[in-house]
Amino acid sequence: MSRVMIIGAGGVAGVVAAKCCRNPGTFSEMLVASRTKAKCDAIKANIESRRAQWGNGGRETAISTAALDAMDVPATVAMIRGFKPDLVMNIALPYQDLAIMDACLEAGVSYLDTANYEPPDEAHFEYSWQWAYREKFKKAGLTAILGCGFDPGVTQVFSAYAQKHYFDTVETLDILDCNGGDHGYPFATNFNPEINIREVAAKGSYWVSEMEEGTGKREEAVDAHGVPVEYKKAFDKGYWVETAPMAVKREYDFDQVGKKDMYLLHHEELESLGCNLKGIKRIRFFMTFGQSYLTHLKCLENVGMTRIDPVDFKGMKIVPIEFLKALLPDPASLGPRTKGKTNIGCIFHGMKDGKPVDYYVYNVCDHQECYAEVGSQAISYTTGVPAMIGAKMFLEGKWTEKGVHTCEEFDPDPFMEELNRQGLPWKENFNPVKVP
Ligand code: NDP
Repeated sequence: MSRVMIIGAGGVAGVVAAKCCRNPGTFSEMLVASRTKAKCDAIKANIESRRAQWGNGGRETAISTAALDAMDVPATVAMIRGFKPDLVMNIALPYQDLAIMDACLEAGVSYLDTANYEPPDEAHFEYSWQWAYREKFKKAGLTAILGCGFDPGVTQVFSAYAQKHYFDTVETLDILDCNGGDHGYPFATNFNPEINIREVAAKGSYWVSEMEEGTGKREEAVDAHGVPVEYKKAFDKGYWVETAPMAVKREYDFDQVGKKDMYLLHHEELESLGCNLKGIKRIRFFMTFGQSYLTHLKCLENVGMTRIDPVDFKGMKIVPIEFLKALLPDPASLGPRTKGKTNIGCIFHGMKDGKPVDYYVYNVCDHQECYAEVGSQAISYTTGVPAMIGAKMFLEGKWTEKGVHTCEEFDPDPFMEELNRQGLPWKENFNPVKVP
């Protein structure tokens, strides 16, 4: 019986809170605290309206709500001390990661998040800022679980599972994130627009262990924009091979979704997996995008609407991408409109007992089924369910190693079992079509 404090009240936090309440044996009390208290109250009301539908055998998670600006460390510390949670779940935005980690250290409580730190004024994310907290968390006897959504998150659990059960060495990994859902709007993002657009507008990149060797060859990245491919030293180990944004495109036929175009993107879990997968030489991440989404994005970019630096407007400073966010549909409102499925998974190639092995593990998730269960679309669902499972792993004593850790550093087996039980079942294929 444990208490959790959830910070944030957006699309993902709504799913986390709902799924915690579907597991009242683990989560007995919950505080949802965010900048806008009305959004916390809406999450609570949604859960109350579904309790009968879920039928939790008479056990219920008690929910309270509060207003909190998580950038205010003393206020966060005071709230943690007042509520005394066993775990703080940061489901706000990546900009809050370090402030909430500082508050957890001061108040002496463990931490979990779903996305790695990103400074607000720099469209760039990497683990270095949070890895710098490793010793502090270890010394304090606390655990920080980083990036426990689907990607990052489940993709790393899949990697640990593949390494544990099927491979001696994993040589290549391709992470494929496909959203076959349609919300009917000409342009909307499925999660926080600012974070989403910054991710997509950034240069593409993939990780290689060695420069110029094996599968990490220069000609791999066909640069459509005249920007040469560049090698950059990764923080801990290996190299990033950078391409122009959206320069590498592949088509893939996804189970239960069909053929989609996907594009190579930079993604945070590549860096930690490069350090933790034995024998790994190359890791790539691909995400599907429709032509309409890309055309709109290009146009917004061309007119300067995706800029993250402040501009003068009628005597005020405004950040164009923040203004754009205010105009776009709230991702949390896409639930009832979105139809179709997501398919996210990992394709591994490596060796076992001297023989080559291919292995594809993936989840297919239906937008409308998620909506019927918790009132959200599948993007928030596939992020929120793993965050709840990560918390469950910690609270049940299965993922408790002290220090700051990414998801592949823990035992994947109990997490994989929970994925099947909690609404994100996975499938395996030992003869997958590989990505060229
Ligand atoms: P939303 O924008 O819908 O929600 C963010 C919430 O955080 C809002 O309720 C917002 O408050 C709150 N918030 C922002 N700043 C503060 C602050 N200073 N103090 C307290 N609360 C604050 O985002 P999502 O729910 O879509 O995403 C949540 C997180 O999940 C993000 O970090 C995102 O990057 C991550 N994510 C991870 C994925 C994965 O697979 N690992 C996939 C998708 C998302 P307000 O309502 O007042 O604005």
